[in-house]
Amino acid sequence: MAKQIQAIRGMKDILPQQTPLWQYLEDRVRSVLGRYGYDEIRMPIVEMTELFKRSIGEVTDIVEKEMYTFADRNGDSLTLRPEGTAGCVRAGLENGLIFNQTQRLWYQGPMFRHERPQKGRYRQFHQIGVETFGLEGPDIDLELILLTVRLWKELGLEGLELQLNTLGTSEERANYRELLVSYFQVHYDELDEDSRRRLESNPLRILDTKNPDLAQVVAGAPTLMEHLSEESLAHFEVLLKGLDDAGVAYVLNPRLVRGLDYYSRTVFEWVTDQLGAQGTVCAGGRYDGLVEQLGGKPTSAVGFAMGLERLVALLETTAVAQQLPGVDLYLIMMGDKAKRKGVQLAETLRDALPELRLISHCGGGGFKSQFKKADKSRARFAVILGDDEVAKGEVGLKPLRDGGEQLQVKIDDLAGILADRL
Ligand code: ATP
Ligand code: MG
Repeated sequence: MAKQIQAIRGMKDILPQQTPLWQYLEDRVRSVLGRYGYDEIRMPIVEMTELFKRSIGEVTDIVEKEMYTFADRNGDSLTLRPEGTAGCVRAGLENGLIFNQTQRLWYQGPMFRHERPQKGRYRQFHQIGVETFGLEGPDIDLELILLTVRLWKELGLEGLELQLNTLGTSEERANYRELLVSYFQVHYDELDEDSRRRLESNPLRILDTKNPDLAQVVAGAPTLMEHLSEESLAHFEVLLKGLDDAGVAYVLNPRLVRGLDYYSRTVFEWVTDQLGAQGTVCAGGRYDGLVEQLGGKPTSAVGFAMGLERLVALLETTAVAQQLPGVDLYLIMMGDKAKRKGVQLAETLRDALPELRLISHCGGGGFKSQFKKADKSRARFAVILGDDEVAKGEVGLKPLRDGGEQLQVKIDDLAGILADRL
């Protein structure tokens, strides 16, 4: 036998028994986004490497060590997208969607980062991302957060914590940066190699370190919040008031700087303690400088991205995962006449009940093995058709989930009965 080839480390198959939960999640998100007036955009999975260098920033984990970058046959440097914002801005600029207008957009799909695979962290993972353009007030920041609140409610997810911070404008950050550098220079001996390097290139990122040995020195650092302009503070205050008005609880987290360079003002994360170390299921914020950085006119922008693997893992801990329905009917047929009649019956039912999910048994076999397959399909009902039934113009209708006895019903009444019971 030939040796089997395995999937790439950190890239998982999503198997048929898992896809119903994925579809449930994707359907709910799509529905909520539609109801808030967001339009879907679909971008390529591969972009010019330069796009990510310019938007995410050269001195970030993503660009320094996580990108899947390769030369294509023309020698261009291409990269499998590690996130969606850069491509969305690129697409928006290229297609004239951004200048002088407002947009509420969303996208979904796979992202690629060469990280150390572990629970909740993969090399191919999936996001649904939301981006808005041309809206500068805190009202849109609030809308985005309220949208996520509604989503968790509709998905039945509880115990998620909203963490918030504000990063001010780029000038405010530049001033703060100097203070931070002075502080960390005093504590140079306590820093690790990564942080020492970042002290030169991007000291704010030290606050985002995942090294627990640095927790204390990071906790003692001056906070950006203390060094913001009144305007930036006012923007943030309005958002906080809006959240209070809506009864949405939040925690201010001054260490929340987000992994990516392009954020400004509002940043937020939704965090759970039910998934271990990889607890952030949704993260986002304002990135007013990015459009200009990518060649457009200065444009306000704010958005977020959800990690679908982590949300699915969270859904698996809820009752929803156990209750997802299989098909409605599994049609069991014994005997030649029944097989011929069954094919017609299945199509008649599909005509009569357009939403009906029906598996028509293929491949023969005894009653017992057909019932086993019916059970495995998680069908709500089995419909049983033997040559006896055909002769009488009847079928057996047996509930498989909700209990109850098998009924014999007239074949012509079946569609009507199902319309009532499903
Ligand atoms: P983390 O701090 O966990 O590395 P991040 O700041 O790199 O997250 P973002 O780039 O903001 O993450 O992506 C938004 C969301 O996408 C994250 O909150 C998370 O839910 C999900 N995500 C990011 N990287 C991965 C990954 N490698 N595997 C699975 N999900 C991921
Ligand atoms: Mg990361």
